[in-house]
Amino acid sequence: MEEPIEVSEMEITYQEAMDIRGIPTTICPCGSKMWNLKTIFEQETGKIDMYFLDMECALCGTLATAPTPEGFDEQDADI
Ligand SMILES: [Zn+2]
Repeated sequence: MEEPIEVSEMEITYQEAMDIRGIPTTICPCGSKMWNLKTIFEQETGKIDMYFLDMECALCGTLATAPTPEGFDEQDADI
C-alpha cells in the first residue's frame, strides 16, 4: 500500500489528460475517484450547497462532468 501524502503534495501530471465532459461520471478513465471542483458550502450546516458540473481528475487532470443527485432536475438549479 502506498504511503499517504499531504493534499498539498498531490500533483496532476496532465500527460494522459482527456476531455470527457458530457456524460456525468464518478470514476476517471485513469481509475481515480477523486476530483477537483468548485463548490459552495451552506454556512449553517457545512453541507455542500452547490457545485459546478465541470471537474478535473485530481490525479491525471482529465476534464469530466460531475454527477448530480438522483432525481435532480436542472429546472431546480440556480443557473
Ligand atoms: Zn484521472
